[in-house]
Amino acid sequence: MKPEPARVVVVGGGPAGLSAALNAALSGASVLLIDSSSRLGGQYWRHLPETWLEQSELHLDLDTGLLLISAVANHPKIEIWSGAEIWSATHEDGAATLRLITNGVEKIITTKALVLATGAYDRTLPFPGWDIPGVMTPGGAQSLIKGNGIAVGKRVVVAGSGPFLLPVAAGLAQVGCEVIELLEANSPLRWLKSLPTLIQNLSKIGEAAHYIAIFNRFGVRPKFNRAVVAAHANQDGELESVSIAKIDSNFKIKKIERVKCDVAAIGWGFTADTSLAGALLLKQLVTKDEGVAVLVDENQESSIAGIFAAGEITGIGGSELSIAEGVIAGLAAAKYIGCKAEISNNHHKTRAKKQKFAKALISSYPVKSGWQSWLTDETIICRCEEVKYSKLKFAVTELGATDSRTAKLLSRCGMGMCQGRICGRFVVDLVANESGISPSDISEKERISVGNRPIITPISIELLANGE
Ligand SMILES: Cc1cc2nc3c(=O)[nH]c(=O)nc-3n(C[C@H](O)[C@H](O)[C@H](O)COP(=O)(O)OP(=O)(O)OC[C@H]3O[C@@H](n4cnc5c(N)ncnc54)[C@H](O)[C@@H]3O)c2cc1C
Repeated sequence: MKPEPARVVVVGGGPAGLSAALNAALSGASVLLIDSSSRLGGQYWRHLPETWLEQSELHLDLDTGLLLISAVANHPKIEIWSGAEIWSATHEDGAATLRLITNGVEKIITTKALVLATGAYDRTLPFPGWDIPGVMTPGGAQSLIKGNGIAVGKRVVVAGSGPFLLPVAAGLAQVGCEVIELLEANSPLRWLKSLPTLIQNLSKIGEAAHYIAIFNRFGVRPKFNRAVVAAHANQDGELESVSIAKIDSNFKIKKIERVKCDVAAIGWGFTADTSLAGALLLKQLVTKDEGVAVLVDENQESSIAGIFAAGEITGIGGSELSIAEGVIAGLAAAKYIGCKAEISNNHHKTRAKKQKFAKALISSYPVKSGWQSWLTDETIICRCEEVKYSKLKFAVTELGATDSRTAKLLSRCGMGMCQGRICGRFVVDLVANESGISPSDISEKERISVGNRPIITPISIELLANGE
């Protein structure tokens, strides 16, 4: 293999990766930006290129996205590989080796300075009927609108928890769906605990007001302390209705009603996509929301020198925090390969302000363990392998599994195509509950190991055989 030129490789073309690439290049570094999507922008600025400006109502911060994407795309020191997906990565002798698939070909590159900005995906919880066609995640519904121009259905229920439900419900209403219910599982009063942080981030109140104005225009009335606890199919197997429950502060059901709909978009915040970081054996930690994040120092450097991480993979915090972290990571990576780059107090101050807001977000939208009482023995837990809840329980109560890895081997939960990306996080909680272990006593190792696997994304033997 030819020796690689000294350059910064950035993985991820979202707010964090774009900011990192641009700031590394502005400091004089040559940059290679790799992203698995066909267009830059990540999850936040997902768009249809031809009609992006017409879609401006669906993007609250379109100007920043336009500026960042065009600055990166036009910078002479930045090379971009879109549609390129890293499927495996290792680190040895001070350099990372990335194996990726691009244009149907497998390639291998190495780099001494790497920035990971691989983002997050929707956090899901299982419930009876969540595998019926028509039930999807809010991120899935929004991707169809922003990335494909498709309105997902006619009568839509948006539910779960977290501020992301607001842009999704607003977007659905704006493209012509009737949002018949917008349901937040938590109480809005939880924000009172973080009032000073909210006052320091007044732009966020402006954001909420923006969505409330859209809801008023389309007659969407948000309801609180409510959740979709079951979905029901018609004779053709498609979604016909959902059971909506009034729930208590621990998510236990108080009262249920049925509502007819053809789409239900249900999500519980996000799970950081730490699979690439895990393959590289970077140290990770368990966050306040019991998710997993990459451990970084004040300059976004991970536990391995020369590998930096930014954005949602260091903890869920939204696009503004992702940008602030991306700036620092890009500068630090450029400095690492000898460029003149200065990380100032202001960079750290901006990030600290956004981190404070991220903390408030997490404490305002907890996912309480009462959701487990919504399940029946027949509920599918692992959709890839079609494993029912009764089988997972059997693995614990009859076969003696006391941790999620053993339960996986005995039940096949998490052994399918997605390799536990969807079910891994909640299987840990279900196995612990069945074993009589409280959520706070689940070990860090148990939670972290769920997202770690040597193969990040499935690859065919043919591609592998024909590649480098
Ligand atoms: C579906 C979805 C929709 C969202 N919409 C909004 C919204 O409307 N408003 C809002 O405030 N927040 C939204 N968020 C939250 C959002 O994640 C952040 O606000 C922001 O996009 C995070 O930026 P990021 O750069 O960390 O990651 P992302 O924007 O997620 O970017 C990560 C990028 O890394 C790429 N990548 C990941 N793994 C690999 C790999 N192995 N190889 C190559 N490339 C890889 C991905 O393709 C992606 O483009 C959304 C999140 C999701 C999951």
